[in-house]
Amino acid sequence: MRPYVVAGNWKMNTDMDSAIALAEALRARVDALEPGAQVQVLLCPPYPMLASVAAAVKGSPIGVGAQNMYLEDSGAYTGEVSAAMLVSAGCSHVILGHSERRQYFDDSNAVVNAKVKKAFTGGLVPIMCVGETLEQRETGVTEAVITMQIREGLEGVTAEQVRTMVVAYEPVWAIGTGRTATPEQAQEVHVYIRDLVATMYDRETADALVLQYGGSVKADNAAELFAQPDVDGGLIGGASLKAEQFLEIISAAKARTAAHP
Ligand code: PEP
Repeated sequence: MRPYVVAGNWKMNTDMDSAIALAEALRARVDALEPGAQVQVLLCPPYPMLASVAAAVKGSPIGVGAQNMYLEDSGAYTGEVSAAMLVSAGCSHVILGHSERRQYFDDSNAVVNAKVKKAFTGGLVPIMCVGETLEQRETGVTEAVITMQIREGLEGVTAEQVRTMVVAYEPVWAIGTGRTATPEQAQEVHVYIRDLVATMYDRETADALVLQYGGSVKADNAAELFAQPDVDGGLIGGASLKAEQFLEIISAAKARTAAHP
């Protein structure tokens, strides 16, 4: 059975005090939700708060991920951070190729690919984001866009690595808009990605790949999205900043894994 992974992408929100308070509030209550159900929970705060949030959740089932990283190991790259720095700050995962990075910071498929490979060599699990814009969906090129993002993003990535990573399908038109993909739309693209990965690698690898859905997941729609057989968790933006909402989403994920262990 694939791991189930729910990650909160805090984006450029919180300050030190509110970040620690949110992490502590989640830590205090996460265990009581569906005890025994296996869901990996990750918090992805901004860089300055990573080490403090990691300290706040240390010893709990909650892990920490970064929202980005640079593709070099060290050197004269002012403002950037390396995989090793993230590991030393307590991260196990890193989000790469988020649509906001692609849109505002020119993270191309080639850059995302270099970062994915660097994450692996640096000891981090990459969460590679893919997804089409509204215009791309409406002009019928969703599958072509996803194919390019997956093929180019995974160039040179081994089957063994793919089996341990996460791909997040995040339709750009659903991110931060309140407009969620229907469960059927999410499932359809997830199956498409899994089948594509099977043709690039093999069925066993495709079946092991963890596929998150992201885009306006909230407490009231999480259960129906998580009920889809190829949805293996969620990448949650806005709703992960509110402890109550995020706990309800985690609870929906735990209920799903308890129902289909
Ligand atoms: C995201 O940024 O990854 C995201 C899914 O945001 P939201 O949940 O706010 O749409």
